[in-house]
Parts: sequence; C-alpha cells; structure tokens
Amino acid sequence: MREVAIIRGDGIGPEISEATQQVLETAGAALRWQEVILGQEAKRRWGSELPAESVERIRRIGVALKAPLIAEPRSGGLWIEGHGERRRYPSVNNGLRRELGAYANLRPVLGFPGVSGRYQNLDIILVRELTEDTYAGIERQPEEGRAEAVKLVTREASERIARFACDYALRHGRRKITAVHKANVLHLTDGLFLESVRSVVAQYPELCFDDRMVDAACYLMVKEPCVFDVLVLPNQYGDILSDLAAGLVGSLGLVPGVNIGPGVAVFEAAHGAAPDIAGKGIANPIGLILSGAMLLDHLGQREAAERVRRAVARVLAAGRCQTPDLGGHSSTRELTRAICAEIECT
Ligand code: ATP
Repeated sequence: MREVAIIRGDGIGPEISEATQQVLETAGAALRWQEVILGQEAKRRWGSELPAESVERIRRIGVALKAPLIAEPRSGGLWIEGHGERRRYPSVNNGLRRELGAYANLRPVLGFPGVSGRYQNLDIILVRELTEDTYAGIERQPEEGRAEAVKLVTREASERIARFACDYALRHGRRKITAVHKANVLHLTDGLFLESVRSVVAQYPELCFDDRMVDAACYLMVKEPCVFDVLVLPNQYGDILSDLAAGLVGSLGLVPGVNIGPGVAVFEAAHGAAPDIAGKGIANPIGLILSGAMLLDHLGQREAAERVRRAVARVLAAGRCQTPDLGGHSSTRELTRAICAEIECT
C-alpha cells in the first residue's frame, strides 16, 4: 500500500475525484488515501486557500492526486506564510506548484477513436515550464491606467525543463523535441529559452530538434498536429497550447497531467474547476482518471494503470456512454460505472 495525498478541489473537483478513486480501486490499485484540504474549503475552515500545513503534508507524502482548484481573478494575489517569510502568488494552483518546487508540467494528449474524429491518432506530449515567464506573477501598476508584467526567463530553468523533456523522451521511445517560442520578437527572453533548449537537446544524439514560433505552432497544431512529438514550452504558451490540443481530441475533460519537482509528483487533469457545470453531475472525469493511471505508473503499479487505460479507451470507442462535453447525455456517475464495469469484465 502506498500513501497518496488526495485533494478533492473546487467546482467539479469533488465529483471527478470520487469517480477517480472508484476507478483506481476497481483496477486493484494499492493506495492509501490521505485527504489534504486546499482551495475554497480550506478558506472556509482556516481563512486561507493555501495553508502552509496542507502544502507541507503534500511535500511529506510526495505523491498526490489533485482535483482542480478555482483560480479566482483577484488583485493583490494570494499569500502563504512559512519558513519565516510571507510569499505572494498569482493563484492557488500557481502557489501550490511553486511552494512544492514543481518545475515541469507534463501533459500527454492522446486521440481516442469514437470521440476525436480526424485527430484520433494524435499522440503528443506537451512539457511546460512552471516556474517562470509571465506567470511568475511579477506584475505592477506604476500609475492608474498602466499595468506591467515581467516575462522572466533564465538559462537555468530553461535548461532544466529541456533536460526533463529529453529524459522523458528517451525513456518513452520518443524521437523529436520541438521548442515553442516567439524569439523573432522577444529576442532576449524567448531567444534565451530557445537557445537553452537547443543546446540541451544537442547533448542527446538519439533525439532530433526543431523549433516553431508559437503562432505557427498553433496553426500546425490544428492543421497537422502529427508533425509534433514532444513539445517544450515556456509557462504561458504551454498553458494555452495544452487547452488547444485538448480541444482537438474532443474535450478538455480527456487530458491528464502531472507536475513534477524534486521528490514530489502532483497528478492533475489539464482542465480547471469548471464552475459553470459544478454540482450538475455531468463533468467528464476521464482527465483525472487518466492522471490516476499516470500516478499508478509512477508508483510501479503498471498492471493496474494499464487496466484503467484499456477500460477508458474501450468505453470511449463503444460510444454508448458519453458526458455532454463529448456530445452525449451520460452523467459522471454513469460514465464512471461504465469504466468500472469494463475493468471488471476484462
Ligand atoms: P483554469 O484557468 O483554472 O485552468 P480554465 O479557464 O481553463 O480554468 P476550465 O475550468 O478548464 O477553464 O473550463 C473551461 C471550459 O471547459 C468550461 O466550459 C468547462 O465547463 C469545460 N470543462 C472543463 N473541464 C471539464 C470536464 N472535466 N468535463 C466537462 N467540461 C469541462
């Protein structure tokens, strides 16, 4: 039995985390869940969405399954106290990642027969840098009617994310790394990112390298996404392109992910808390369920992970049970039951 932190999250979080736990347990996962409270529930109980004690528990446990937390538009950001200082982050998700030292966000975008139309063979990996870029949260308003944000890029963080992507590519039999940037306009910042990624990939003779401007990358992603294999992106482009890629395969609700840092892995779906459909029982739980399968791989429970992935693919291919985002009328619970039934009968 391996201890895993579970964060039930906000919005659709509680519905999809219940579904995910049910599927993982049906697949025979050997996990002992430890509930950790963050987000709106933490604010209700303790007055902070990001209590230092909750972050510390996740760090101690080392592996977490996290449902989405609401990123509220706010002025002033969000504060956390610990290690003798107060730190400010632009959102609770951003704050959690950075408090944990998570620097890499990995999102595999996979097409599914039955729901992904002409993108059903898509199989690409987006690797997003998590600590820098405009999402470092360095914003200021020097005067009324003028606001500024700093786009932070360092060689150290750019090389670190490139090494992460290359090591992942080698371990998973991938061949090509594509750096996404806008270095023809942002000469210093994106230029440094591009050169850093290029120099790291050059140390991996098994891999080839190319690069795309972010606008051209968006165009190609829609027109001919199979030219991509592993994409390495600065924080903001990574955020945007992963939602775009999710749209291609049929729904934001299908894409899993993980945030990795030293000694910590937080598995979470690519989507947000979807407050517009929260509580209606119609959220698609597959993104979090597949994040759970990645978690099982991470813990060496590969057979259970495969059982989950096979069942999801079969249920989607059969096309009988689909939540509204996929064009169907099924509820979260009906889809969850169908996946569990598929696991049980194979
Ligand atoms: P964040 O910035 O927190 O990542 P977001 O702005 O990307 O959030 P989401 O909360 O991901 O927004 O929602 C975007 C749209 O996708 C909404 O209409 C939402 O209902 C839909 N959506 C997101 N996740 C799911 C899901 N699991 N099932 C069904 N619909 C979803």
